[in-house]
Amino acid sequence: MHLYDYSSTHNNNPLKNLTAVRNYRVYTEQHLEAIPQIARLSPAQRRAMQVVAKVLPFRVNQYVIDELIDWNNIPHDSIFQLTFPQQDMLAPEDFDRIASMLDAQADPASLQTAIKAIREQLNPHPAAQQSLNVPRLDGEHLDGMQHKYRETVLFFPSQGQTCHSYCTFCFRWAQFVGDKSLRIATSESTLLHRYLERHREVTDLLITGGDPMIMKTRHLTSYLEPLATPAFEHLQTIRIGTKALSYWPHRFVLDDDAHALLQLLEKLVQAGKHVSIMAHCNHWRELDTPIAREAIRKLRETGVVIRSQSPLVAHINDDAEIWARMWKDQVKQGIVPYYMFVERNTGAKRYFEVPLVKAWEIYRTAIQQVSGMGRTARGPSMSAGPGKVEIQGVADINGERVFVLRFIQGRNPDWVQRPFFARYDAQATWLDDLRPAFGEQKFFFEEEYAAMSRDEHGLLMN
Ligand code: SF4
Repeated sequence: MHLYDYSSTHNNNPLKNLTAVRNYRVYTEQHLEAIPQIARLSPAQRRAMQVVAKVLPFRVNQYVIDELIDWNNIPHDSIFQLTFPQQDMLAPEDFDRIASMLDAQADPASLQTAIKAIREQLNPHPAAQQSLNVPRLDGEHLDGMQHKYRETVLFFPSQGQTCHSYCTFCFRWAQFVGDKSLRIATSESTLLHRYLERHREVTDLLITGGDPMIMKTRHLTSYLEPLATPAFEHLQTIRIGTKALSYWPHRFVLDDDAHALLQLLEKLVQAGKHVSIMAHCNHWRELDTPIAREAIRKLRETGVVIRSQSPLVAHINDDAEIWARMWKDQVKQGIVPYYMFVERNTGAKRYFEVPLVKAWEIYRTAIQQVSGMGRTARGPSMSAGPGKVEIQGVADINGERVFVLRFIQGRNPDWVQRPFFARYDAQATWLDDLRPAFGEQKFFFEEEYAAMSRDEHGLLMN
């Protein structure tokens, strides 16, 4: 087996001067005022960001600030909205409460109590992540793993539970606020390997975070390299969820261990694994920089497939033109458009949510503009407790206006691809808002799902 030498860049390397922007500097809540461009905002806007950043996580790096945000268009710029806290992300009463405590220089313990109370109202673990999906091995809970669907295991390596920058809408926000009880992570690679060895039905492993690509290559190697051995032959696909192509593409090009990372990925591919980089990308601008283009090129050279997914989020990408251009650009760069998600029912949902009907209209308008190669994007899809539910459309059936829905993934595999119907509701933003159509009392899956939820471990009894 020959592993390519990834240390050299392309012959017509457009990146000769990019080492100049390799300087990795991160700003968090304490350093907001140190960002020079922030001076363009009014004192009231800066104050509002400070207040919100007390409750919800904030982290942005120099690359995002300098290369992705259009500072001539703040506060409306999509990437600014994607990374910087906004006042309306908190309910007015919560915002006022924290703001007045800060003004009064409240003691730190009272401030923390108030912050914690607000966080707890924000549904820190949507879709019962912490209770329903945690697998067991020899009777022990495997924290840091989820086994929600029969063939797929999610793994949260403890070194990968942060990101190069944080997205303001992130449904995993609870992992970043420093409350250990809200975190899902493990450093137990041995347990992961033992669980996978025993569960031959698992064909797909999703390494997720945070962003696993924040980890050093040596850590990724300890988790992933053993999977290339015959003991894991049943494991066909290794997916790595990451936003590094957007927030720090240098990870694949200029970082000290970028070369080793590419070699690791190639080794897995050579061992017969389908390695898929699940690139989280909200806006076409994220992949439109020279370094991002080079990172994509280098990744593809290893034989991995890059798929892109994103939620549809108000203030950031609730516009069909943004999606159409994003999907077209991605196809051009060899990326497979994969999912349009509905913003989840957690965190700052009040600011970012989009009515389901609008989400469907945006999807439809955007997908009509791309060729068949871009129509691989599914959605809009809700990652809800019972499974991934796609809004297929709005229809009038026997005089009743309905949403046509289907499970793309279901806690019970038999639910998948069964069309079902909900009463049309122009305001609905999530599955919980929907009611069955045609006078039915319950959706077809509800009783079974309730029974699964009563069993703390869902489908994972062994
Ligand atoms: S990169 Fe992913 S995990 Fe990290 S903040 Fe953004 S959405 Fe959340």
